[in-house]
Amino acid sequence: MSENEDHYEIIDNTGQSYPAYICENTHEQNDVNNKYCPTCGEKVLSCCPSCSSIIKRGHIESEPMFLNPYDPEELTCFEDHKMPFDNFEIPNYCSECGKPYPWTEKFFKDYKTILELQSEEIDKELQDKIFKATEEALKNKFKGPSLTILRLTLGRVSSTAKPFLMDVLSGVTVSKIIDILK
Ligand SMILES: [Zn+2]
Ligand SMILES: [Zn+2]
Repeated sequence: MSENEDHYEIIDNTGQSYPAYICENTHEQNDVNNKYCPTCGEKVLSCCPSCSSIIKRGHIESEPMFLNPYDPEELTCFEDHKMPFDNFEIPNYCSECGKPYPWTEKFFKDYKTILELQSEEIDKELQDKIFKATEEALKNKFKGPSLTILRLTLGRVSSTAKPFLMDVLSGVTVSKIIDILK
């Protein structure tokens, strides 16, 4: 290492993830300094409460910047560009530890309560089946057989009770999936 080399700090963040800032009611924050959500007052998270890994919003692409255009050896820093993931959807589970995020836990709690309140329409056995099928569908991002199983299970629910379940389900999936499940 030459005498002058050690004061150049070369930090290349290429490929590194940057976080999403989401409140416990799944409102994505425009201001990353928000500690609490201005819409609902819930706590804002940028990392998993269980394992502290970040909630990935996108990745960084860095471009090198040169101090001296006549001597590219004098590389001093990289300029970071934040590249959001295409079609970013708020994740339900942490990709590092697999634990549900607080909004997912809140959804399951509400969902269970709504199922129990419909006990005249939906017996205990069907309630459990719906709960399990929903859990599987959520883990599989409403794809493949998990969606079919959920659709068939919900098909056994009366038209009186179904809209209440659809209402709470619409908080964890897109309207296209809700239309399939209706
Ligand atoms: Zn909020
Ligand atoms: Zn985690």
